[in-house]
Amino acid sequence: MIRVLVAGAAGRMGSEVLRTVTAAEGMTVVAAVDPAHEHEEMDDGAGGCVACLRDLSVAIAETEPDVMVDFTHPSVVADNLRIALSAGVDCVVGTTGLADTTLRDVIARAPEGTCLFVAPNFAIGAVLMMHFAQQAARFMPAVEIVELHHDRKADAPSGTALRTAALVNAARSAVPATPGAETELPGAEGARGACVEDIRIHSVRLPGLVAHQEVIFGGQGQTLTIRHDSIDRTSFMPGVVLAIREVGSRSGLVVGLEQLLGV
Ligand code: NAD
Repeated sequence: MIRVLVAGAAGRMGSEVLRTVTAAEGMTVVAAVDPAHEHEEMDDGAGGCVACLRDLSVAIAETEPDVMVDFTHPSVVADNLRIALSAGVDCVVGTTGLADTTLRDVIARAPEGTCLFVAPNFAIGAVLMMHFAQQAARFMPAVEIVELHHDRKADAPSGTALRTAALVNAARSAVPATPGAETELPGAEGARGACVEDIRIHSVRLPGLVAHQEVIFGGQGQTLTIRHDSIDRTSFMPGVVLAIREVGSRSGLVVGLEQLLGV
């Protein structure tokens, strides 16, 4: 039985993870950590409750988890990872906004044999969207990304958009000139979006959205749009469960669900 600690357990993603792990075969929730919701009882979806704890170090010492799943906030996730990894707890991380340098620094200080698994997107359809975008980029190098998320998302652009830009840029044969900030009218700065990996990324934030992305390729007389929609947070759960099962047999830093799917 894999013993799972959920960090960010009262959040939109964490509460879904708590219910999913409770229902999944071969794993159990041993602790729920969320400082802003200390002592609150979280519904485990199976008729039971799990009390939220405030202090991650204490929770780890008292419950001895095998895996920590972190869906918290870009400002706290690195500290959580340092605490969990130094206690020998493997980590499955969905929190976005972590810099590559931070990830490398965290894993460099982690004990031998521990694993830090990070996925910018746990939805299998999103992994396929990135995979297909890489294929298209080889033949249609002119590309822009539109990502659309709910209005309480803490970071922009999304981790998925940043990862897509890196993968697509590495896959394309040439980097075509893209009209950029120099075409923006005074008073409308930002109209052309952010430029990451020589690709324009446009971030939409609206109530009613969950997590969506379009990768739009342009060619002579044609466009190709590859779109993925997470219409419900349950879309991320099969990927999270897979990562919890796999992380114990891996070590070091592993980035992307595609590493576990063999895409
Ligand atoms: P949320 O704001 O609903 O939940 C975050 C929770 O973390 C809150 O309850 C907050 O109190 C708690 N928290 C804050 N500091 C903490 C700490 N030090 N320890 C433990 N808990 C702490 O946010 P959300 O919508 O659930 O998203 C969480 C993160 O997951 C964001 O970074 C988001 O972008 C990311 N996300 C990733 C994926 C993916 O597939 N990788 C999917 C959806 C969301």
